[in-house]
Amino acid sequence: MTDFTPDVIVVGAGLAGLVTTHELVKAGKRVLVLDQENRNNLGGQAFWSLGGLFFVDSPEQRRMGIKDSYELALQDWLGSAGFDRLDDEDRWGRRWAEAYVRFATDTKRDYLRELGLRVLPIVGWAERGSGSADGHGNSVPRFHLTWGTGPEVVRVFAEPVLEGERRGLVRFGFRHQVDELLTEEVGGETHVVGVRGSLLAPDDALERGVRSSREVVGDFEERSAAVVVTSGGIGHNHDLIRANWPTERLGPAPEHLISGVPAHVDGRMLGISESAGARIVNRDRMWAYTEGIHNWDPIWPDHAIRIIPGPSSLWFDANGDRLAPPNFPGFDSIGTMKEILATGHDYSWFVLTQRIIEKEFALSGSEQNPDITGKDIAVMLKARLAKGAPEPVELFKQRGEDFVVADNLDDLVAGMNKIARGPQLAADHLRRQIEARDRELDNAFSKDLQLMAIANARRSRTDKLIRVAPPHKFLDGSGGQLIAVRLNILTRKTLGGLETNLDSQVMRADGTPFPGLYAAGEVAGFGGGGVHGYNALEGTFLGGCIFSGRAAGLALARR
Ligand SMILES: Cc1cc2nc3c(=O)[nH]c(=O)nc-3n(C[C@H](O)[C@H](O)[C@H](O)COP(=O)(O)OP(=O)(O)OC[C@H]3O[C@@H](n4cnc5c(N)ncnc54)[C@H](O)[C@@H]3O)c2cc1C
Repeated sequence: MTDFTPDVIVVGAGLAGLVTTHELVKAGKRVLVLDQENRNNLGGQAFWSLGGLFFVDSPEQRRMGIKDSYELALQDWLGSAGFDRLDDEDRWGRRWAEAYVRFATDTKRDYLRELGLRVLPIVGWAERGSGSADGHGNSVPRFHLTWGTGPEVVRVFAEPVLEGERRGLVRFGFRHQVDELLTEEVGGETHVVGVRGSLLAPDDALERGVRSSREVVGDFEERSAAVVVTSGGIGHNHDLIRANWPTERLGPAPEHLISGVPAHVDGRMLGISESAGARIVNRDRMWAYTEGIHNWDPIWPDHAIRIIPGPSSLWFDANGDRLAPPNFPGFDSIGTMKEILATGHDYSWFVLTQRIIEKEFALSGSEQNPDITGKDIAVMLKARLAKGAPEPVELFKQRGEDFVVADNLDDLVAGMNKIARGPQLAADHLRRQIEARDRELDNAFSKDLQLMAIANARRSRTDKLIRVAPPHKFLDGSGGQLIAVRLNILTRKTLGGLETNLDSQVMRADGTPFPGLYAAGEVAGFGGGGVHGYNALEGTFLGGCIFSGRAAGLALARR
């Protein structure tokens, strides 16, 4: 690109890259944005996301009667993160955590509103935690859903960046795969001065999210005073996930993994940056989910969808034993993962009723929520309030390979045994546990902790209104047909990554900033190389890309 001399090169046109570029364009800088995919993929993973955003003490929360504060959110964040490498790998992540919770309390909502982003008035309660006030989990609902889901989050940053392209400040290089960071000695120090890579065969017509070819048709080299790596995590690279899997903490890496992210989330830039001298921290921390189902209509290879469950389904391991409290649906992702993998199997089961699926199953992904993604109030009200499950959920129930529907428990268990990858289940073993739970419903109080948690949840207005089915017995037919879902481990977010300071400058092994190199978004562990520590509160990943991309853009704008 001889006719364009960039001030900054951004590697990756996902959300973090777009936010960085937006801030740089505002400051009048010239930016070259390189991405290995085609233009249809602008926005990367964020396009597919649900657009869930973590805000603290928002007007939406206050209107729902929720009392939230910076102090409570920080308590929850630190209790979840469990930073235990403070003198080393958590040094920057811990600082990023404080700064990020402050951003989510004071600035994030206004920053996004000014760009035109709006959220739904009802706030969701994700990751309800491990059962103690200062431990993991959200004490209050904080999951704000973007009106328009992921595509809207992308739009509000893509539009000003595309305007920058029209004004000649931004140049895109699609199908430019970066293979190397260029370094040079300047004043006795190694500086990053550009990138080198492969030109991939053009594929302009390929639809968003579909795996593209890696056929190389040429090469390129580009130079600038600074390079910002915004290349995403490792979620589609199952080999890297298994190599980094924390076996001692979570048990053996799952044999059967399905992919919650597109194929371009390949993690290559991590190794490329490390070879140039960047430091990677917290490789062993990742945010995979236990509620994965095979997409019956896949876009990318092994395409998995996550069920975001309400709290009422009964959760059984592969042996048919009910998971121990507080491993209830939607409470503690990593705690649940540990318990499931301890069986030696990499899947588990939800057992529920038609009444529960109608109220409590949400599917993560913009394409699975066409009403909210399409910003259609009439369609949304019809889909969410009418009888029956929302259409995408119903389609999974009918066509998904992980679903079994039956009129009685014997038939349900027979269906489960047809798709079990491990032990055959005994219907009587499940019946005894479900009957015991059902008996606890004869009184308004109970010693079953899951039923207690459901009663608690229904005291939250959001939950009562749209998220938690009225408690009912499973085996007396009052909840309609019985449903079982085989739940698989689904890859998604990378919690560790390139270590960065609060300006998103990448650090070297000796703890000093690497001149010329910046990183933001998932490749930087959403800030600092691991702003979440071991556990996330949800809705914090898009926000982490926004906060760290903004930090990189603002720091470079000051140069
Ligand atoms: C289905 C789904 C639902 C989600 N829901 C939510 C939610 O509700 N709330 C939330 O907070 N988060 C959610 N997330 C997570 C969030 O969307 C991602 O963590 C975030 O979008 C990552 O953005 P990024 O810019 O860091 O990386 P990416 O979006 O992965 O973008 C990186 C870009 O870099 C390019 N690239 C990589 N390597 C190279 C290279 N060597 N050369 C050139 N280009 C390269 C890639 O092609 C890609 O375009 C969800 C994710 C998914 C997939």
